[in-house]
Amino acid sequence: MLRVVVLGAAAGGGVPQWNCGCEVCRTAREEHPELRSTQASVAISADGEHWFLINASPDLRQQLIATPQLHPGRGKLRHSPIAGVILTNGEIDAIAGLLSMREGSPFTIYAHPKVLAILKANSIFDVLNEKSVRREPIEIDAAFEPVLPDGKGSGIEILPFNVPGTSAWYLRDKIHPGGNLSDGDTLGLLIRDKATNKHFYFIAACADVTDELKVRLAGAPLLFFDGTVWRDDEMITQGLGTKTGQGMGHVSMSGEVGAIESLAGLDIDRKIFLHINNSNPALLAGSAEREALEHAGWQIPADGTEIVL
Ligand SMILES: [Zn+2]
Repeated sequence: MLRVVVLGAAAGGGVPQWNCGCEVCRTAREEHPELRSTQASVAISADGEHWFLINASPDLRQQLIATPQLHPGRGKLRHSPIAGVILTNGEIDAIAGLLSMREGSPFTIYAHPKVLAILKANSIFDVLNEKSVRREPIEIDAAFEPVLPDGKGSGIEILPFNVPGTSAWYLRDKIHPGGNLSDGDTLGLLIRDKATNKHFYFIAACADVTDELKVRLAGAPLLFFDGTVWRDDEMITQGLGTKTGQGMGHVSMSGEVGAIESLAGLDIDRKIFLHINNSNPALLAGSAEREALEHAGWQIPADGTEIVL
């Protein structure tokens, strides 16, 4: 049995974002608190006892408080059910939560060498002592099984694959500590329960739905996919900033080459958007964008949503 808990569904900044007065943020702050969402991350478990996080968002502390499955075991003075964290990119909203996991509990960080190089180059991550917080490099197209604290297999097999993307925004025009090769900056994951063969895809960032990706995802039982922006230029047209979706490495939901159109007709059973920016009008229930999204068979999850495969 594979359990998946959506810890958060929002993109960087969350909903509402601390300094944002856009319609979505205002509505989430004032009239509709159910719109509030923390930054994207999911937790997975094959045994219901040991858990792995897919990315560690800056909202991790709040997410852990809200998720009983991730609380310390009863009667234990120092304990966490979290055995490891798998990182799919080096963006702040994927790695900053690691800093909330100091205080000496052992776990393993699984990441591509490019992302591990980012952690290594930033001395603040040294608070996670490598003796107790192991760094385990993962390779593109090489399946691995994250391990439990006793060294045994977790029963979960993860296949990382490269998807079109960009390096972390804060590394723009800087020397990447992990080198110049573009592969490894943005990973998708195929996550499989070894005992039952149940599986799903996790792609929180993706700049382009290529034919290769369509072939890979065809027939998938469950897909979490990048839902950052509805339109590529929405942040500019709303006066919120100068970034485009493409510039940040995210394909839009709408449009001819957008995710909804590109991933239609592939017989994907359940399609869930994740990493949704507060500028995205599809967050508003009843909006034309939300209706179009749902009509196309997509969902936007509430934080805390649990799916059992
Ligand atoms: Zn906003």
